[in-house]
Amino acid sequence: MKKFPGSKGLVFNEDLLINQSSKGLSGVNMPSNNLSGVHIGKTAKDYIDAKFLRNEENSPLLLPEVSESTTVRHFTRLSSWNICVDTAFYPLGSCTMKYNPKINETIASLNNIKNLHPMLSAAYIQPVLKIIYEFNRLLCGLTGLNEFTFNPQAGAAGEFTGMKIIKKYFEVKNEKRNIVLIPDSSHGTNPASSYIAGFTPVEIKTLFADKPDGHSSREGAQNSGKDNEFVSIQSKSKGYIDITELKKYINEDVAAIMITNPNTFGLFEKNIREVAELMHKNGSLVYMDGANFNAFIGNCKVSDFGVDILHLNLHKTFSTPHGGGGPGSGPVGVKDFLKEFLPVPYISVCKQTPNNKQAADDDEQGDYYELKNEKEHSIGRISSFYGNFAIILRAYSYLLSLGKQNISKISEIAILNANYMKKRLKDTFIESDPFPEELCMHECVLNDNVFQSEGISTLDFAKSIIDYGFHPPTIYFPKNIHGAIMIEPTETESIKTMDSFIDAMKQIKKKGNKYSTKSPKNTKIRRLNEVLANKNPIFK
Ligand SMILES: *Cc1c(COP(=O)(O)O)cnc(C)c1O
Repeated sequence: MKKFPGSKGLVFNEDLLINQSSKGLSGVNMPSNNLSGVHIGKTAKDYIDAKFLRNEENSPLLLPEVSESTTVRHFTRLSSWNICVDTAFYPLGSCTMKYNPKINETIASLNNIKNLHPMLSAAYIQPVLKIIYEFNRLLCGLTGLNEFTFNPQAGAAGEFTGMKIIKKYFEVKNEKRNIVLIPDSSHGTNPASSYIAGFTPVEIKTLFADKPDGHSSREGAQNSGKDNEFVSIQSKSKGYIDITELKKYINEDVAAIMITNPNTFGLFEKNIREVAELMHKNGSLVYMDGANFNAFIGNCKVSDFGVDILHLNLHKTFSTPHGGGGPGSGPVGVKDFLKEFLPVPYISVCKQTPNNKQAADDDEQGDYYELKNEKEHSIGRISSFYGNFAIILRAYSYLLSLGKQNISKISEIAILNANYMKKRLKDTFIESDPFPEELCMHECVLNDNVFQSEGISTLDFAKSIIDYGFHPPTIYFPKNIHGAIMIEPTETESIKTMDSFIDAMKQIKKKGNKYSTKSPKNTKIRRLNEVLANKNPIFK
């Protein structure tokens, strides 16, 4: 890397901070102690055995010695290298990277909230407990379920919690059921969480090849017979749970079915009510992965289609920036009969009692909120304290600032936008649509048929779209769609943005593989050799 910043306008080069180090430089100046006769006291060194102390000469501390301005510029420049929802369209299917209103950030960073100590007793955090309690009621209203826990700190943690609840339910009933049915249209975390919770996940096929070598003439031919994972892409593939297929797997060992809805093909699980009836008749439960609840919110209740237990991803549907792996919140909602198994702590509300009179007096309702840890059949604790409060607060603020009359617009516009893109891509990419007859929900999935016919791989496309100023969509997921490209515009994107993304896709196809195999070209770092970068990473 060149050592000079600004070699491309305002796109700065940036060297490692350690390479910018000069001996003796420091970001802070401490005044020297000029108080005569004042003894500072012992330092850590006085308490640690000499043999454990680092020898400054043999092993100097490898920390960069830099000035404050160098440090600030370094991190500010690096931050400008990141693409995010605040800088660009970020159509990452399955992840709901939408614009998150800044009002939620403002609320979550209010001093009297962000400085609260997690060990404070209930009497001091009545408003916090009240917010969680009321948000719980709001989610119950939106889903038709009876109670939520906010302990899980991510979607997958919610799934794990849900599976533990199902396990406990059958334990208490003294029934031995060890199988969880999982359609191949489910999110990848579903089989993983059911397995970690002690179940055996069993896959249910939803895609059916009309002929064994159902894929296109190119890679399909190579995969012929060997690779049934990549199945036919045209109208014969279903993408929904097939009742006849499902029936083959229902028996007394089945504890539950775990349905991602909308599924990972972006489709509404049409047969979910019938599936739920079959499961319930068998004494089994219905778990729904509702991470992408922005496809439903305000327009339908999951209780209406037979769901017993569900998780939501607050950091997707309910507005929280969640790049870089966190933080998150994956609340789990249940029907009445599963409430007793929810994790602790939980919040309960009571009318004021003499003991907490003071706190209750502050509340005009006279309600007093408690954090309780006792519950006979609870699965126990699954996170420290009470989940990620700041995320719950953002979600609460999001709903209140939208107002009741606007909540259903989230799902309406999310679905409208995804179908707009699907439809507008049809003229060029019809051969890539695995479900051409279907309406999609909040996202649409394409395979690589059309790009492949130009010698462009899905990865080439993803790299090329960066040059147009877009974050690439999710690629190669779901795995059973060949070279998958999964686009989620979300409800926050305008027609203008979607149109320019569609135009970019068409242009990439038109320019062909000479262009795309060498992309991106306009970024500071060009196409990386990803294998080499993985095999020979340079850490310093
Ligand atoms: C994102 C997602 C998950 C996992 O959520 P995390 O918060 O990343 O653990 C599970 N299921 C679906 C459908 C998802 O989209």
